[in-house]
Amino acid sequence: MSRVRARIEGTVQGVGFRPYVYRLAGELGVAGHVLNDSRGVVVEVEAPSETVERFLSRLALEAPPLANVERVTSEQLEELGEHGFSIRESPVGGEPRAAVTPDSATCPDCLAELFDPGDRRFRYPFTNCTNCGPRFTIVRDVPYDRPNTTMAAFEMCAACLAEYRDPANRRFHAQPNACPNCGPQVRLAYAGGATVEDVEARDPLETTARALLEGAIVAVKGVGGFHLACRADDEAAVAELRARKHREDKPFALMAPGLGAVRELVDLQPADLELLLEPARPIVLARRRPDAAVAESVAPGALELGVMLPYSPLHHLLLVDAGTTLVMTSGNVSDEPIAFYNEDACARLAEIADLFLMHDRPIQTRTDDSVVRHADGRRTFLRRSRGYVPGALPLPVDCGRHMLACGAELKNTFAVAKGGRAWVGHHVGDLKNYETLRSFVTGIGHFQRLFAIDPEVVAHDLHPEYLSTKHALERDGVRLVGVQHHHAHLAACLAEHGELRPAVGAIFDGTGYGEDGTVWGGELLFGDLEGFERAGLLLPVRMLGGEAAIRQPWRMACAWLAATFDEPRRPPRQLARQVDERLWDQVSRLTVSGLSSPLTTSAGRLFDAVAALCGLRSEVNYEGQAAVELEAACDPGEQRAYGLPLLDDGGPLVIDARPMVREVVDDLEARVEVGKIAARFHNAVAETTARACMLAAKRRMTDLVVLSGGVFQNRRLLRETASLLTDAGLRVLTPVRLPPNDGGIAYGQLAVAAARLAAEEGDVGARA
Ligand SMILES: [Zn+2]
Ligand SMILES: [Zn+2]
Repeated sequence: MSRVRARIEGTVQGVGFRPYVYRLAGELGVAGHVLNDSRGVVVEVEAPSETVERFLSRLALEAPPLANVERVTSEQLEELGEHGFSIRESPVGGEPRAAVTPDSATCPDCLAELFDPGDRRFRYPFTNCTNCGPRFTIVRDVPYDRPNTTMAAFEMCAACLAEYRDPANRRFHAQPNACPNCGPQVRLAYAGGATVEDVEARDPLETTARALLEGAIVAVKGVGGFHLACRADDEAAVAELRARKHREDKPFALMAPGLGAVRELVDLQPADLELLLEPARPIVLARRRPDAAVAESVAPGALELGVMLPYSPLHHLLLVDAGTTLVMTSGNVSDEPIAFYNEDACARLAEIADLFLMHDRPIQTRTDDSVVRHADGRRTFLRRSRGYVPGALPLPVDCGRHMLACGAELKNTFAVAKGGRAWVGHHVGDLKNYETLRSFVTGIGHFQRLFAIDPEVVAHDLHPEYLSTKHALERDGVRLVGVQHHHAHLAACLAEHGELRPAVGAIFDGTGYGEDGTVWGGELLFGDLEGFERAGLLLPVRMLGGEAAIRQPWRMACAWLAATFDEPRRPPRQLARQVDERLWDQVSRLTVSGLSSPLTTSAGRLFDAVAALCGLRSEVNYEGQAAVELEAACDPGEQRAYGLPLLDDGGPLVIDARPMVREVVDDLEARVEVGKIAARFHNAVAETTARACMLAAKRRMTDLVVLSGGVFQNRRLLRETASLLTDAGLRVLTPVRLPPNDGGIAYGQLAVAAARLAAEEGDVGARA
């Protein structure tokens, strides 16, 4: 006989770990007990030695799907001659702050019940268990118990309560446990202004599916907010949705009824399949099949389609009933945040949706669908939110303080940290309207409560006008740490890979406040978590008219022409018909006066300029649109690259794009196809970026290169730059667990702040 105490650490609370241990113990006939404490799960078992060994070897291997076992340690104890196995109460005083886990897609067991006519949960849209269901989106406070969730108002019936209390049951301590007798209900309604009128329906889901098939637009309340749904193959319905939403070009996401349907829409690589089936069920961007049966208006001009699978019982029922792929785009007007309260949705979406499929389980935190893609073995998040948040990320440096990072302005996320772990918040969005700012502030408060964090250190961007910076500066009695925007991008990537050594980072994005007060965005940095130097930059030009140049890429075309040619230039024929001649002349004059036209090294704006010169896009309707369309235009067979010289006078390297702009103009005049021009441009940027990284890495004696910033969401650019660097023997790191765009900034700010404070304290220690 032997007796062993094992401690299991990681994500092991609130995920059905204790009942799992209970069942395993029963199966193997070991005696003992299991309990939660403040560090995780503790289990003591007593049995013949080989049985104990078998128990320990299976313990981590067969853990429940939502558990993530980081470490198992065990020690031998005196035998006690214990009989039977029990789940014990947590020790008094050591009551854990049970970790809140991300929302998770319906598990196979719940799905089977959902479609089993003999089951008491047959067609019940809120079926869940400890292996699946809502978590983060319903939690109001900690500990994660039912009274602290939006399920508090629903009293469990006797049958549900029995499941909840039975350690052998899949629903043991499943906080959102519910059934048709005691849980939330769906409701179908018409909404027009202040009036909301219920639709008489025996089965609201079936009725909704029928309306969708007939071309209706329906607002559907899901897990993290409302979607707007319509048939994906009905051009009239999709075009109508676009018109009502005032969303001219931004692609709509799709929800397919099953993998078969997904395969008919996109070329599904094994890596894409893996992403589609993650418990988070993100939107996966994959290459669109030429024969995909989707309306033209779903994703005009895009090479990829964003597809996801149903992830809640409500979605499963709706998709099975409809039997066809649906558009499932965020329930908002234009750039506003998505609606997540019933009343608010009915008011804001009244002009868009014909019908509202709602339910009475409140959503505590608005959480958008996550968006992810796979490119040549590299996973890239475009948005990390539902299903991944609030999963913890390790921080390689622990400065021993509670920290908050406020993030950037666009695609904002915030983050909190303590004890070497960071929690990056849900996608908040652009902090420019009152509602997003409010969700930023309440979101920070919510995370502070959930993870028991009282920030002593607050990290922020250097941009004085960012609302996130202002929020940081308003906090009293904290240590403020300002972090340069592109350094935060570099640090975020280093930190997620646990890398403490310095690296060369090519950080390309739209805009970020530079240390010299100009607008940075085509940066070659050399640095580690603590600090950096500028090793290179894109030749600066003026952003003509400031912010206006972001919305109107033709202004950047004008700026680059002015920088390239001595004489004032007219726009090339391809662009000329899209721009008013007088306006062009007025704007050209800003290159001389410099009036409200700051200098920028932005790589994103260079992509804009070339897209505009080619006549692809002179005004954008969403951030990054011109670059996306320039990438989509590339002739995949074109190998040539424009000359893009690297100026090297001993100081920071300068990527001089002027000769390239001249070649672009020559090609346009010679009527070279735009596909070739776009490809030559991409090839040039990849080659020169790789060359600059190699040179900088060699001079600083490192083999580590980071590629990050929103511009590296460009698949072609990332693939080519990374492969050139890898071929040259360098190690290339790209963001995998967080987006390369500004959604990753907050985590980078945390890493920098932690490293600086730890270094400071190290100094103090050395002096003392
Ligand atoms: Zn389940
Ligand atoms: Zn019930």
